Amino acid sequence: MAEPSTAAPPAAWTYDPRPRRPDWGLYAPTLKLASMGHPIRQAPLPAEAVIPLGHARGSARPLVSPGDHVLTGQPVGSDAAAAVHASITGTVVAVEPRPVPGQAAMPCVVLRRTDPEHFWPDLAAADPARLAPEEIAAHIAAGGIVGLGGALFPTAVKLQPGRAIRALVINGAECEPWISCDEMLLRERAASVIRGTRIMMRALGTQRAVIAVEADMPEARVALADRLQAEADDHIGIAVVTAKYPAGGERQLIELLTGEQVPSGGLPRDIGYVCQNAGTAAAVADLFDTGRPLISRIVTVTGGAISAPGNFEARIGTPLADLVAAAGGYSVTAQRLLMGGPMMGIALADASLPVTRATNCLVAAAAGELAPPQPELPCIRCGECVQVCPARLLPNELLGALVRGDAAALAELGLADCIECGSCDYVCPSAIALTPRFAAARAAATSGTGR
Ligand code: SF4
Ligand code: SF4
Repeated sequence: MAEPSTAAPPAAWTYDPRPRRPDWGLYAPTLKLASMGHPIRQAPLPAEAVIPLGHARGSARPLVSPGDHVLTGQPVGSDAAAAVHASITGTVVAVEPRPVPGQAAMPCVVLRRTDPEHFWPDLAAADPARLAPEEIAAHIAAGGIVGLGGALFPTAVKLQPGRAIRALVINGAECEPWISCDEMLLRERAASVIRGTRIMMRALGTQRAVIAVEADMPEARVALADRLQAEADDHIGIAVVTAKYPAGGERQLIELLTGEQVPSGGLPRDIGYVCQNAGTAAAVADLFDTGRPLISRIVTVTGGAISAPGNFEARIGTPLADLVAAAGGYSVTAQRLLMGGPMMGIALADASLPVTRATNCLVAAAAGELAPPQPELPCIRCGECVQVCPARLLPNELLGALVRGDAAALAELGLADCIECGSCDYVCPSAIALTPRFAAARAAATSGTGR
């Protein structure tokens, strides 16, 4: 693969009033405002926390056993890429596989809370200016920080030295139409996002960063711009992208900002960029400012069945049902529960599952709010799915290859580049469930069991 260009990234990263508009994607009805009427609220500490040990690259090795007493912030899982910490003070009641959103069983540490809360005494602030880049990455790994956009990719792995990085991209373009946790974070904690951005720039050895927000986030943009102006920082820019789904996809965002495409099967790093979520940047700042590892995250709780939708900072492992209660409970019967947004969310049987590091949103939809599954009809080759696909794939052709079981055609048509965004399903007049088929085929190919 060719070495990345060392040319400077596009210069117009101070506020550019012309939002970058993709020629793919769709405008989905938004329900963000419903959850933005209150500042971010602290969710109550749970009576029991089920803390998953897994992340996108594997699973931490448990450091505790049933009967142990742990303090908040104490390491309970060891992993070179992303450690795991006690999110509450309490007693370990189990170390065993438990169901988590999207997975029938994941190794978890289960804590029963004891009061009062005490923090692990070893938690201490750290000065990134005194640390070498690899020491910053190691500190972030020990702090358990993973991508809070939902992918759970260990942040430290993305910060490893390697190719020269032209710019760090901070993704605040929260494109799922009902989720507002990143926008609220940017409004209320812009300084933390900026501090975390600087720390990761130092780890990557780059002088440039851009924080991307959507055009319908003026308060977030102003909060960032005010802070950057007050700090006279012209190394970090702000870019605005059209509020079109899925502009916040990592590859899609980089292309929108730079005009450059991440190569098929490659990483942003291959063309000189690293992308991190805005919440991740704030978590990095918290870690260095206070020593606090990743023991909580902001979760949007929304949907027509929720009495008082809002955003809650919840300890990892908190039952989703506790967040429903914190949001005033159900106002009507919840017809469907989703972790995540309506486009890419994971269906939940009930709200007993825990908040994980990937939980950005809980949707409790009232009757009629989300379209019920329709019977599938044959493909009429209308091309709607092709128009919206952000990866510039041919979903209808992929479907044909899947039906034929033609693995070579699937590879040639770029199945690996599908980001499982659901846009093709959303527009398909024949109600064909394309994305679940593509997701299953991708998972099978990844596990080596594919056709
Ligand atoms: S949108 Fe549906 S019906 Fe139209 S071409 Fe794509 S798969 Fe076929
Ligand atoms: S789910 Fe995959 S194929 Fe469908 S629109 Fe999204 S990226 Fe394209």
